[in-house]
Order: sequence, then structure tokens, then C-alpha cells
Amino acid sequence: MGGRMGCDVSQVQRITVLGATGSIGLSTLDVIARHPERYQAFALTGYTRIEELLTLCVRHRPAYAVVPSAEAAGRLRAGLTAAGCATEVLEGEAGLCQVACASEVDAVMAAIVGAAGLRPTLAAVQAGKKVLLANKEALVMSGALFMDAVRQSGAVLLPIDSEHNAIFQCMPSDYARGLSAVGVRRILLTASGGPFRQTSTEALLDVTPEQACAHPNWSMGRKISVDSASMMNKGLELIEACWLFDAPPSLVEVVVHPQSVIHSLVDYVDGSVLAQLGNPDMRTPIANALAWPERIDSGVAPLDLFSIARLDFEAPDEQRFPCLRLARQAAQVGNSAPAVLNAANEVAVQTFLQGRIRFPEIASMIEQVLDQESVVPLTSLEAVFAADQRARELAWAWLHRNGR
Ligand code: NAD
Ligand code: MG
Repeated sequence: MGGRMGCDVSQVQRITVLGATGSIGLSTLDVIARHPERYQAFALTGYTRIEELLTLCVRHRPAYAVVPSAEAAGRLRAGLTAAGCATEVLEGEAGLCQVACASEVDAVMAAIVGAAGLRPTLAAVQAGKKVLLANKEALVMSGALFMDAVRQSGAVLLPIDSEHNAIFQCMPSDYARGLSAVGVRRILLTASGGPFRQTSTEALLDVTPEQACAHPNWSMGRKISVDSASMMNKGLELIEACWLFDAPPSLVEVVVHPQSVIHSLVDYVDGSVLAQLGNPDMRTPIANALAWPERIDSGVAPLDLFSIARLDFEAPDEQRFPCLRLARQAAQVGNSAPAVLNAANEVAVQTFLQGRIRFPEIASMIEQVLDQESVVPLTSLEAVFAADQRARELAWAWLHRNGR
């Protein structure tokens, strides 16, 4: 790395951003760029948006970029050469894992969407990195193995999901002793309710992918937007919270809070309830995790309580949003159930976005797959991917049986 005048280069943390072209990746680079004296992009990865990745490489000058194929690598290399940018291009999952655990890397932002992020995220964990976890699906699929790897490697796992980052901020620093030992009674996981919070069961039959992706408070990738609309996002987050905070599912309560100003709460036995508030902008949890235990400017505007004026709360409706019930059941069953739930959901969301299934069929497909697939313990990464694969096959079979 080149030296900077008047700045101790050893203080600059080198960051790998897995999923740099996505919503979380771009917000991460925005925060990093505000603090060049603290952070430097080490590697950026992309999947389909190679032109955008090129622009990011020219702007942030990472040592490495990772793309899925030789064809994409050729295009990116040509663009980098034309722009006079020395970034080296790697390919495929091996490239992702390489930049996730390289010895030069101080922290890894895990922001690939879905099961595709599991191997590189786990590689960062096994290398003992500081891992900023946005890719909740990775933890949902492989919870026990993932958390074992964190303990064995000494990796520092920091939640990026706004709710989990809020819970983390409201927990005492020694919460790893156990929730009852530190006096936690409940975790209150807030949910916006998504774009269909007030949509009737009948009307849900005809909602479109565009409507599902138009979230009232957050701007996000399409997969998590559909998950928010179906409330599967909250279901995945419930499972995520159980692993991150070593909580049984019964201790995690979902509270619908349409303004998305309170990002979650922790209820203590003495009656104290601690909440974290902020504008709905992912740069807050990203900056919190990047700088933890310090605080840095994130670029997020100060919260204006007078313009917000009121905060509302309601119970979730598991009749209209059965995905939440399915996820809670999977959390209780444990073993392979969350991995099966996640894989079936990935197929369901993909086929909904393609216009091949109706919105309520997301839950129907997942429920059928969960019913058909037997629950097995997941003692290796191979077992995790085998359960994931079987669930995907059952989901595709559901689709064909139902004539699509
Ligand atoms: P996104 O769709 O905007 O970006 C996804 C990123 O993953 C892109 O960079 C893409 O290139 C990469 N990617 C996709 N498929 C890939 C594959 N097969 N192999 C390698 N890379 C691949 O998604 P996002 O909204 O940024 O979400 C990313 C993750 O963060 C998800 O797990 C999501 O649940 C989580 N998350 C997002 C938000 C948010 O506000 N966007 C909030 C909380 C958690
Ligand atoms: Mg969230």
C-alpha cells in the first residue's frame, strides 16, 4: 500500500466487501470513503453488474476484484486496463474465499445475498477475521456450524442487519455469559410490516413483484424486499437472533412498528427496556460495526423526533403472513429445518420475481417443502448444502406439479 502523508499506514484497516455492487455493498463503500484515514477497500466482488464493479474499482482502487466467470473477468480486466487501474481480477467461489481470508484483510463485509454467500463468509470466520454479517441466509442455513467456527477461530462477528445491530447495541458487553445471567427477559424484534401490512388476503393474490419491491421505509435488493413483503425476512431474522444472542425462539418476540425508527429492543428483568433508534439508513449499523467499539460519522442525518411525531406498534398477523409462522416453527425444530426453509424460500422468491407464482404461493411452496423433507442434524458443510439442494429440488417439483 502507498503511504499517506502524516498518517500511520498501519492504522488503515483493509476491508473486503463481498457483494460490493449490492445495496449493502454500496452503503459500505459510502461509509468507507468518508474515512480514508481509517479504511481502505482491499477487495470488491460483484456478480452480474460488471460495469458497476468497474466503476467502483476505479473509485476505490482495491487490490482485488472478484467476478463469477472467465468471461466477466475478461470484460473487467479490459475496462481496468483502459482506466489505468491496477486491480487484480479473480474468479468464482475460490476467488471469493481467497479475498475473504487473505492475511492482509482486517475486516470482511459479508453482503452477498442468499446461500451463495455461505462459503466465503465461513472462510472469513474460519480465518478469524472481523466479520460484518449482512448475509443472514448464511447464518440461518448453518447456524450451529457457523457459531462453532466463530468460537474456534476467535472471529469477531458483528451484526449488520439493523435489528440485530440494534439488539447488539442494547446488550451488555458480557451478554455471551448467557441472556438470563445478564438479566435479559426478552428480545423485541421490530418489523416494518412491509408494503402489504394493510393489504387484505384477497388482494395479496394479485400483488406484483414491483409492488412487493416497493418497501415503504428501506431501499434494498430485490430478494430481501420480497422477504420483507412476505415477512419471511422477519422469520429469517428471528432465527438469526437466536444464533447471534444464544436465545431460544420463545424469547424473541416480533413487534410490528411501521415507522422503522426503533430498530429493536431488549427487555430486562427489572422492567427496563432499551431500544436503539435512528433513521432507516443501513449506513448506521454499517458504521457502528466498522468502527466498533468506537463511533464514526456515517453520513446519516440526525433523527428528527418532531417530524416523526409518533411511533406505532401492532402484533404481526400470521394468518396473512404465514412465512413468519413457518420460520418460527423451523427455529423450534432446529437441525436442517432452517436450511430447508431458506432454500425453499430462495426458489419461491426467485419464481415469484419471474412471475411464475402468486405472492401467497411463496408460503404454500415453502410449507410443502418443509412437510416433505425430513429433519436431519447438520454436522458438516456438505450436509448443509445437501439439505439446501434437496429442498431446492422439492421446491422446483412443487412448481412443476402446479403447472408452472
Ligand atoms: P443486493 O441484491 O442489492 O446485492 C447482492 C450482492 O450479492 C450483489 O453485490 C451481487 O453481485 C452479489 N451476488 C448475488 N448473487 C451472487 C452469487 N451467486 N455469487 C456471488 N455474489 C452474488 O442485496 P442487498 O440488499 O445488498 O442484501 C445483501 C444481503 O444483506 C442479504 O443477505 C440481505 O438479506 C442482507 N441485508 C440487506 C439489507 C438492506 O438494507 N439491503 C438489510 C439487512 C440485511
Ligand atoms: Mg433487518
